[in-house]
Amino acid sequence: MSLDQSWISEAVEATGTAFALKGRKIHEEQTPYQKIEIFETASCGYLMTIDGCTMVSTRDNFLYHEMMSHPALNAHPNPETVVVVGGGDCGTLREVLKHAEVKAATQVEIDERVTRLSEQYFPELCDRNNDPRATLFFGDGIQWMKDVAPGSIDVIIIDSTDPVGPAEGLFGLKFYRDCIRALKPDGMLVQQSESPLLHLALIQEMHAAMREAGFVETHLLHFPQMIYPSGWWSGSIALKRAGSLVERLDNADALDTQYYNREIHRACFALPTFVKKALAG
Ligand code: SAM
Repeated sequence: MSLDQSWISEAVEATGTAFALKGRKIHEEQTPYQKIEIFETASCGYLMTIDGCTMVSTRDNFLYHEMMSHPALNAHPNPETVVVVGGGDCGTLREVLKHAEVKAATQVEIDERVTRLSEQYFPELCDRNNDPRATLFFGDGIQWMKDVAPGSIDVIIIDSTDPVGPAEGLFGLKFYRDCIRALKPDGMLVQQSESPLLHLALIQEMHAAMREAGFVETHLLHFPQMIYPSGWWSGSIALKRAGSLVERLDNADALDTQYYNREIHRACFALPTFVKKALAG
């Protein structure tokens, strides 16, 4: 079956899969880092793609943004200082700032155009950018992490594109070593870790690299995500100190969310057997 011009499709050669939405392109630009496109879709509102890969849609971004932030922030004993690496659409920053304990949240995005286009097409994701606790820094997250003061961050959230191009170094041992140095003793790192169904080998490699860098525990959490390959996505949490994944769910139900709640917090860490086996040891 082939699709006519009224469909937007993302075909992934490596996994032999494709995803399509009905809609039309309304903007395209090549930045020094990547090609950004904006589409107006029939069922998902606006859609942003980067280098042909789906990034964010109006309809389903809440799933990803809530799950990249709330499980980690509600598992950390006192998340005061949070850094989002990538995340230029500002949706993760917005969720982080919903936590009253957070005193400072910095977004380190390499491509300012992603944020400017998000302000235009996804203004709801940018509605906390003027929060006095927020800093929007535009630069390379890899270099930023090398330069930051040791022991200064509680939670690092790596909300990046796939591990190619400028994001490739965000998935490697060297970067994880810089992250662990930057974290306080109870610190944790969360990273988007692709699909458990399609990218299990990558998840295994990521967890192995995180442990090699010095993180003592790694945990996988998962959630549905319609616009990403397979419709099923994951985040990986790495802990600097053993046992610091606590359940601090006093505010879980009070957060203004659409997907995340107390029950989801517990359920998202429950692993299917094939994933459990792959990550054992
Ligand atoms: N939710 C998305 C996903 O999983 O497909 C990720 C969205 S977010 C828009 C990813 C961002 O990471 C992009 O805006 C990209 O510019 C940024 N990025 C990639 N490499 C980076 C780097 N080395 N430092 C900082 N930001 C980076």
